[in-house]
Order: sequence, then structure tokens, then C-alpha cells
Amino acid sequence: MVDGLVCRECGARYPAGPRYVCEACFGPLEVTYRWDHLRDLGPDGLRARITAGPPTLWRYGDFLPGFGETPPVDLGTGFTPLLPAPRLGERLGLRRLYLKNDAVNPTYSFKDRVVSVAVGAARAFGFDTVACASTGNLAASLAAHAARAGLECYIFVPADLERAKLLGTAVYNPTLVAVDGTYDEVNRLAVEVQDRFGWAFVNVNLRAFYSEGSKTLGYETAEQLGWRAPDHVVVPIAGGSVITKIHKGLKEWEALGLIERVATRVSGAQAAGCAPVANAFKSGARWITPVRPDTIARSLAIGNPADGPFALELIRSTGGQAEVATDAEIVEGIRLLAETEGIFTETAGGVTVAVLKKLAESGRIGRDELTVAYITGNGYKTLEALEPAAAGGRSPGDGWLAIEPSLEAFEAALSGGRRKTA
Ligand SMILES: *Cc1c(COP(=O)(O)O)cnc(C)c1O
Ligand SMILES: [Zn+2]
Repeated sequence: MVDGLVCRECGARYPAGPRYVCEACFGPLEVTYRWDHLRDLGPDGLRARITAGPPTLWRYGDFLPGFGETPPVDLGTGFTPLLPAPRLGERLGLRRLYLKNDAVNPTYSFKDRVVSVAVGAARAFGFDTVACASTGNLAASLAAHAARAGLECYIFVPADLERAKLLGTAVYNPTLVAVDGTYDEVNRLAVEVQDRFGWAFVNVNLRAFYSEGSKTLGYETAEQLGWRAPDHVVVPIAGGSVITKIHKGLKEWEALGLIERVATRVSGAQAAGCAPVANAFKSGARWITPVRPDTIARSLAIGNPADGPFALELIRSTGGQAEVATDAEIVEGIRLLAETEGIFTETAGGVTVAVLKKLAESGRIGRDELTVAYITGNGYKTLEALEPAAAGGRSPGDGWLAIEPSLEAFEAALSGGRRKTA
């Protein structure tokens, strides 16, 4: 049950509601809960209660902002596969590697988790209009959930996003506002629009509720591993929210006795062309210096990450790492994941796999560490990353045979041509 909001900087407390920042210190706000009734069940009773729930993120409804009798806005998000990855693991020298495949959510990214929670909060607080600033995946997810809930919807995005992200948002018929600017500029505009119009911006005035949805990635991982925390997680960073919330979810379950002591090392993955957190980590800086993004990983292209300082602190305090991937390495990461494990991810997942590879090959992830890499978005969202110009001169057709419709043509091609991209 939600208790209220607390400032993460100064500890000031507020009743649950649509608030952007702490009035005393402008710090970010976080949801607090009362869980006495869950403690009373004991760990076994609580596990039984969870496993009896639906096969969606709402099986973790006890740990999320819930709103009385209002049912959640649900498209069937969550409880996505946690897959052992022996073939990728063998390539990288990792014996206990798992992939959390969140590319299979209803709108094909993990953003459905945060939006399902945030739109419920918007409805409970009486809003009839929801909105967001987005790097693409949030846009599609919010537009879909707004359609399902029958809410008005305004989506603000950089105008030069990938086609699939623009068309895959517009199809839900929100008011799509394509802004000639970077995400950070779009976000600044969103704050001003929120002030003027008073809408429920899921990642502005509902951000505290929104970000709670990401905790379910931590819960699910623990449940799917047989009620234990991983030794190491590798998580992509845009605003820095999901990486911190995965860990928060694990710590909450530790406190409730659902899993043993959490000693998970948390590592962050960023694109080289937008690496404010990884830069700070590598240089030992205490502060995050904003950057102007230049990367094909558009969904991670936030130059001034709101939760960056918390992500940095978490990586350091858990003994994790932060590493970057160039555009070429991102494309390689997409291909490597697809050809070893049969999972097609977007550029953000390419960043994660490329960074996983670097950390494994340099021994920064131990061979026997139980490692989970988070695949947060679907490859069909960023097909252009595989086009020749982006993919280092390789054409998509490198991997296939093009023939006339005859057996002779097929046999000729077989004997003459390369069967597969190396
Ligand atoms: C938004 C997003 C992220 C990162 O989320 P943050 O919580 O903002 O760090 C990672 N992967 C994908 C595909 C995303 O859309
Ligand atoms: Zn404060």
C-alpha cells in the first residue's frame, strides 16, 4: 500500500500525488509503502501469493503504486522470458549467463512496465490527459496505454527518430508532436508544457510513480532464478532510472525475506556517443557532465540523465562497472545476440550486449558469476541500424542468396555463393 512520497535528497515527506520535485530542495521524489500486511504473511506465504498472481507485472501489484478499486491499465506487460544463454555465454567465456528478454512486451520495449503503472496513477489522480517526452519507446507505449484507457494523449519526441518509432506511435492516434531538437530540449519543453497545461506527464510530474514500474524487472529476475538475486547485472542507461530500480526491487525483496542477502554487482551500459554516466565513472568524477548525444542508440540518447547521479553511485557502491559501445560495436552486438541466441534487439540491446562482451573479455565479469543482461527493446524498432550505411558497409543481403525461381539457380548459388555471413 502506498504511504506517500519522500524526497531522495532531504527526506521531506509528501502525500501521494502528481508532484515533480521536492518543494524544499528540488530533489527527486520516491514512492514509499507500508508493507506490514505483507510481512505478516511471512516469506513462504508471500511467495505463494505472488505465484498465484497473473503472468504479468501485476503479479507484483503489492509492491507497486496501486489505486484502490481502479483496475490497472494492462496490456499484458511483463513476466517476460529469462533465458539461459549458453551459446552467447560460450562466445564470451561466461558459464552462467541469462538474458532478460523485455523486447517481447506489448509495445516491444520495457517501457510498458513504467507506463502501465504511471497511467494507473494518472487515472487515479483524476487526469484525463496523459503526455510524455520520449526517445521513442516511451512514446509508443504511452500512446498504446492511453488508447486502451480512453485518455487524451500528447507525445513529444525529437522529429528525427527512427521511422518505426514514429509510425509505431502515430498508429495509436495520439497527438504526436515532432520537435526539431534533441531529447534534452524536448524534455525541457515538456516541463514547460506541464506547467502551462497541467497534464499528467508520466516522466515529469508522475515520474515517481512511473519509475516504480521498473522494479518489476528486479522482482521477475529473482523469481525466475528461483528466488535469488543474480551476482551481476548489465543494464542499459538512458535517464538512469531502470538500472537503479532493478536494484531497488532486489533490496526490497531482501528486506521482506523473499530472497537472501543481495550482493549483486550492477553494471551500466551506454553508447560511446552519449555516455555521461560512464564518462563520470571512468574518470572518477563525482558529478555528471551533460553531453550532446551523437549515437545510433536513440532510445538511450539522454545527455543529461535525471537519475544519472543515483546510477553512478549505485554502480560504484555495488562494485559494478560502466562501459561504452561505439556505433559499430552496437551493430555487432545486435548481430551477435541474434545469431547466438535468436533474439533480435534494437540498438539499446546492441549497447548492452557489446558492453557485456567487453566486461566479460576483460575479466570484469567473472566466468562463474550468475549474470543477467537486460534486453530492453525490439530489433524491429531500429531496422535502419542494419542498413549498409550504418552497418559498416555490409548490406543486409550479405547473409542471403538471391536467385531466379529454378532448382538450377539454387544449386548454382549454393556452390558458388557464401551461405552465411561470417
Ligand atoms: C528508456 C530505455 C532504456 C533506459 O531507461 P532509463 O530508465 O531511462 O535509464 C533502456 N532501453 C530501452 C530500449 C529504452 O527505451
Ligand atoms: Zn528535498
